[in-house]
Amino acid sequence: MKFKLVILLLVATLFTVGCAEKTIGNKEDDHIQKYVKDSKYPELEIETEIGEYDTYKYAIHFPRTDQEDVNSVIKHLVAKQKKTFVSQAKKTKTDKGTFSELLLDYKITNLSDTLLSIVFSSSKNIYGQESHKQMYTLNFDRKTGKQIKLKNLLTDDSSLQKIARLSQNMILQDAKAMELSDVSQVMDGTKPELSNFSAYSFSNNTMDIYLKEEQIGPKEMGTYKVQIALNDLNGVLEKSYTDSLELKIPNETELLSNTTTGQEQQQKQSALTPGVKYVALTFDDGPHHQLTPRILDILKKYNAKATFFVLGNRVEYYPEIVKRTVDEGHEIGSHSWSHPKLTSLKPAELAQQINQTSNSVEKITGKPPATLRPPYGAVNDAVKQATNGPIVNWSVDTLDWKHHNKEKVKQIIRQNTRDGSIILMHDIQKASADALEDIIIYLSKQGYHFVTVSQLLQLGDHPEKYVGKVYTNG
Ligand code: ZN
Repeated sequence: MKFKLVILLLVATLFTVGCAEKTIGNKEDDHIQKYVKDSKYPELEIETEIGEYDTYKYAIHFPRTDQEDVNSVIKHLVAKQKKTFVSQAKKTKTDKGTFSELLLDYKITNLSDTLLSIVFSSSKNIYGQESHKQMYTLNFDRKTGKQIKLKNLLTDDSSLQKIARLSQNMILQDAKAMELSDVSQVMDGTKPELSNFSAYSFSNNTMDIYLKEEQIGPKEMGTYKVQIALNDLNGVLEKSYTDSLELKIPNETELLSNTTTGQEQQQKQSALTPGVKYVALTFDDGPHHQLTPRILDILKKYNAKATFFVLGNRVEYYPEIVKRTVDEGHEIGSHSWSHPKLTSLKPAELAQQINQTSNSVEKITGKPPATLRPPYGAVNDAVKQATNGPIVNWSVDTLDWKHHNKEKVKQIIRQNTRDGSIILMHDIQKASADALEDIIIYLSKQGYHFVTVSQLLQLGDHPEKYVGKVYTNG
């Protein structure tokens, strides 16, 4: 009896000591577990690091390869993430019962003898402030053990523009994303600059680009993943490099010779030029006190953007309409002060027509008009020299002022609109206001997105050096 009691006491003491040691251990050391094999990739090991402290904890998983160069880059990324998290967690005040947490995990998207692509995802919770998942990518040339830099992958300067355009097309096509964001934010965050596309990885047949939080939309959008088919990157990625990485990017002849049926060919072609089309709706001669607000209401209903080429002397009468137009994401262009044929004016008169309108618009919106549309489309060298921005005419003329007929307006647009069209209407013509809703519905079904003239010129890769060039198509 007495003997049994002693044993019980001894066990209890051992247990208490064990617990105390464990707590001390947690405060000083991380627990590292290493699994010998990744079940999917036998050549990799998964390393796991878990730390649990009074006010924070983390779980970190990362791959270990047979290449020390590669491992040290991975470890550097992991250590940096952990350090940032720990310092954030320590800096933030503790509320009783809450703590901070980091989960850093990863996914291998491509692994061969020549290429390794890893995507890390980091979820953080700093004292109840949960942040969206952030993605980090690492790509290695397995032959050299070196990281693959996007810059070295690109064929030339146009490559980045092509990637930018493909990304823009995909985002603008994504209705869910466009509910949160708008065209100008998307265009801003996807300008053809290396830093915008630096987080990328390869899967078997796509290049995936991760656009970081707030790059193309509000915070709640989180990280946005753009998937570009490798088929679409023929000529964009440096062939000698992709060959050495054994990335299979079919060239155009291969694409066509592999094609057996018309339907397949159509699918392949649509992969080469994604199906989004753009159109710029433009309205001249306003603002009009009744029709312009009606047009703005319709545009708003369909989240369509348009361009209004205003007359300076009407701007003076309806400044609140001009203000509303800009506030709702549309563009104001100049259509001169009083609608004369600019090509028959004396230099001083010409300058006045342009400058007075610019000043008047700038006073209301804070910005001068982005573009000029001369009345009657009349342009000569004097007009080109008198303006700072692009001169924009049109490629589809609805003749709304001539027919006064909404069915005729719709018919002309249906028959003549192409990708990149600039459509001429007048917001002082009832026929155009009456036709607008049907036009938007029809063109939307055809895959068109409604952008401003400046956005259209940007999509068409028209740099500013074309100032003074007359555009009739984007
Ligand atoms: Zn006009």
